[in-house]
Amino acid sequence: MARRKIHGKPLWMKQLALENIRSLFAQARKQFREDRELAHAQVKAARRLSMKYKVRIPKELRRQMCKHCYRYLMPGANVRIRTKNGKVVYYCMECKKFMRFVY
Ligand SMILES: [Zn+2]
Repeated sequence: MARRKIHGKPLWMKQLALENIRSLFAQARKQFREDRELAHAQVKAARRLSMKYKVRIPKELRRQMCKHCYRYLMPGANVRIRTKNGKVVYYCMECKKFMRFVY
């Protein structure tokens, strides 16, 4: 089992990983009100999958996760969203850091 990893993972594995990532985020969203820690753990698991299988977390999901502390971000609960000069600024109340997105 000394295969080198230069070719990455097979496509079907990546697609499966992406599906799992999406479902982890969906679970985190449902879970958040009841158990924040569990929601955060699910987002972290999604991130681990994305790294392991080298798949990018879809854009719309990346905004639901703090890129500093990797916690699930729920607007109105633990993230403040402001628009400024054509950019959206997310302020994570968990780790007190900012993220910026362009429209
Ligand atoms: Zn954070």
